[in-house]
Amino acid sequence: MKFVRSFAKMDVYAAVNISRAELKKKNLNRFVKLLKELRDVFGHELSLDAIHVFYDADGGSDAFNHDQALFFNLHYYDSPTNELSYDSMVYWFISFCHVLAHNFEKSHNSKHAVSLSVNSVV
Ligand SMILES: [Zn+2]
Repeated sequence: MKFVRSFAKMDVYAAVNISRAELKKKNLNRFVKLLKELRDVFGHELSLDAIHVFYDADGGSDAFNHDQALFFNLHYYDSPTNELSYDSMVYWFISFCHVLAHNFEKSHNSKHAVSLSVNSVV
């Protein structure tokens, strides 16, 4: 994974070489907007610096947590419109809560489930 660019104060990484034009075609701007909306749910408890975008078409993960840095896979984001759809917001909110819960527990166990649940009812 290597750094590609910073977009709207959010760092973007990719597993493969990908141009800025290709990232734009893949709705990078909309994805960043969505992630910022989700981050706002948690207020200032979560720094925007902790949120990153990555692009990996071959990876099996939509998101992961690396040392309390949250990464979200642009490849899994697909929005045909400029509007944020309800389904997309729900999907990424749960994903967001999941990776955020790894700030408190690395494994998928009962402690992680409790953290995920608490995050989900903010
Ligand atoms: Zn997990």
